[in-house]
Amino acid sequence: MESDPISYAIVLYKKGYLVGPKVCVCGNKCFNIYKDLKYKTNQCSFSCNNYKCKRKFPITINSFFQNFPNQNIRLISEIMKCFLIREFNAAKAYKYINNELKLFVSDKLIRKVFTEMRKIICKYLKIEYQSKPLGEKDAEKYFSVDESLINHYKGKQVWLLGISDNLSKDFRIEASYYRDESTLKEFITTYVDNGNKIVTDGWNGYAFLDSPNSGYLRIQHIHGGGDFGYGLQSTSHIEMLWAQIKGKIKENYHLYPYKVFMMFVREIEYKIKNRHLNDEEKIKKFFEIYQTANSIEDSALKNPNNTFLDENLNDSDTSSNESGEEDI
Ligand SMILES: [Zn+2]
Repeated sequence: MESDPISYAIVLYKKGYLVGPKVCVCGNKCFNIYKDLKYKTNQCSFSCNNYKCKRKFPITINSFFQNFPNQNIRLISEIMKCFLIREFNAAKAYKYINNELKLFVSDKLIRKVFTEMRKIICKYLKIEYQSKPLGEKDAEKYFSVDESLINHYKGKQVWLLGISDNLSKDFRIEASYYRDESTLKEFITTYVDNGNKIVTDGWNGYAFLDSPNSGYLRIQHIHGGGDFGYGLQSTSHIEMLWAQIKGKIKENYHLYPYKVFMMFVREIEYKIKNRHLNDEEKIKKFFEIYQTANSIEDSALKNPNNTFLDENLNDSDTSSNESGEEDI
């Protein structure tokens, strides 16, 4: 199967990575994968199997790959392999494709692929966050909240705010220039209804939780000597998340303006949430979320009550890397 584009295309089609046309202009709904000898780059296409019609459609039609300039089927297959092996790192993927597989493509294309993947993940997490609250009213569950300072762009500093379900370990992350009471209040009430227990450190931005009217029960512990509390009454899970997220951000992501920076944060979140999956399952999941994200209109995602999603920070400096593509 190494050199045969049709075998590649059939495998990718069977796995659901290629979608194909839904219906032909002639009304026919059946298509064959057809070897296209006319074009070097489009090695295959879908062909209407009505013998009177035989219209052809690009092999990437309706799929994740449809807007990419290079639609070579073998390249798509190799990108899938890179996705498996390297997960999202465009620089490594480019090196892998060109050095090890002798398949010459532009770094721009690879960057585009990975940027598109990141955009889909951002949209998907947004859908998930809006449809599933972390803590429902009066559930009396334990949640830990914490903030962590990040140097993100040209010396600017930003707080990452995190809230984690201490039992299921599910979590939400947002970013803000502030960690004052009103910011933290908005963050907590966005994700966790009252009637739950909030574990915090001694930071006075959480003082509102102690008011009898807040509806939350605050469990506070004083930082120091590595004390993050014990068992469910602990912030150790969120402390662990900071270590993971900051480790990844340090690599290079802090160089990008806010919008792009948040894309990387979402990517790391997604990776942490899906690290239990094996390689095959990761690809499957990605294409599932691609379908989900594609089926929901952007306008349906606007939530005026939640300023943490997207609109919280305004970057006046938009000089570089607006597209979110990686430099390699
Ligand atoms: Zn037709």
